[in-house]
Amino acid sequence: MDLGLQGRWALVCAASKGLGRGCAQSLVAEGVNVVITARGAADLQATAEALRRLNPDVDVRAVVGDITTPEGRAAALAACPQVDILINNAGGPPPGDFRDWQREHWLAALDANMLTPIELIKATVDAMAARGFGRVVNITSAAVKAPIDILGLSNGARSGLTGFVAGLARQPGLAGRNVTINNLLPGAFDTERLQKNIAVGAAKSGMDVAQAAAKRSAAIPAQRFGTAEEFGAICAMLCSAQASYLTGQNILLDGGAYPGAF
Ligand code: NAD
Repeated sequence: MDLGLQGRWALVCAASKGLGRGCAQSLVAEGVNVVITARGAADLQATAEALRRLNPDVDVRAVVGDITTPEGRAAALAACPQVDILINNAGGPPPGDFRDWQREHWLAALDANMLTPIELIKATVDAMAARGFGRVVNITSAAVKAPIDILGLSNGARSGLTGFVAGLARQPGLAGRNVTINNLLPGAFDTERLQKNIAVGAAKSGMDVAQAAAKRSAAIPAQRFGTAEEFGAICAMLCSAQASYLTGQNILLDGGAYPGAF
């Protein structure tokens, strides 16, 4: 199916690796010009090169910077001639015990996983509405639907974003102007972050890393971790011209791990 995205411009945040990169890849394959961001220049440039090889007909721009800072966001927005598609993403907060977290830990989590996406939405959606097309996809987490105790910072900050988006997406000035805002909730996806988390867990329990990974994936009905490519493909579908009646939703991608009927 042609997703009707050829020639659009997307800002894909935190996209040198993992899920953000998967989203950029799918959009580029659909003929979307992209601005990708990350903090580390070398990995970001390598990803930009790979995207240009994937589709030489699109413009791929790489902006080095921390998307959780005003400067990082301003640089990313300045590089994008117009933002038709906004993919909000950033690193997740560290695990831990809430008894150890101080105000600054909470503020960092809120900045990265709630306030940064809100700032970028604020900077882009009214122009999308004026043009009659816009797609915002926020990469959140399965932990919004089924909170994980050690990920309290993530549970809290991402739930704040989820509540905000639920109200915003339903504004007639956006939904009625073909601007959709949805959240994609990853379960366990095979990225650097997941591998690091498994290694930390394995070290704590005295298990070897391969054993810990096998145990974790065996608990998922799909019997495997997701891939960044399949995450990106769903993201591109949410951004498609055909998905204009799909807004304000939380879409769980977890290989069946969430046990509820709804
Ligand atoms: P990853 O570590 O593999 O990749 C993260 C990417 O974000 C990298 O390109 C990194 O350079 C970039 N990045 C991180 N912080 C940034 C910042 N402040 N500014 C700009 N770029 C930044 O991580 P991932 O697995 O792709 O995860 C992406 C998001 O999805 C994270 O918020 C993570 O918590 C969440 N998540 C991931 C999983 C999973 O299983 N992988 C599950 C649930 C939630």
